[in-house]
Amino acid sequence: MCLICVEYNKKRMTREEMRKALPEMVMFAKTEEEKNHFKKLQVLGDSMDEKSLEEFANDYTSNLGKKTR
Ligand SMILES: [Zn+2]
Repeated sequence: MCLICVEYNKKRMTREEMRKALPEMVMFAKTEEEKNHFKKLQVLGDSMDEKSLEEFANDYTSNLGKKTR
């Protein structure tokens, strides 16, 4: 799972902190899926549209709860 989304969604991480962490997350992503997820976050983090970023993190986090793992 992606801690960036979880922490951001809980407001324990700011957008600025997220943007600083993301280049490293992209670099060390284990799968292509993960890498694409982080890249998507980078795009959202760089845009001025904070609402889209919040929705993305919120969607991701609520989907986590639905998975039976
Ligand atoms: Zn994420």
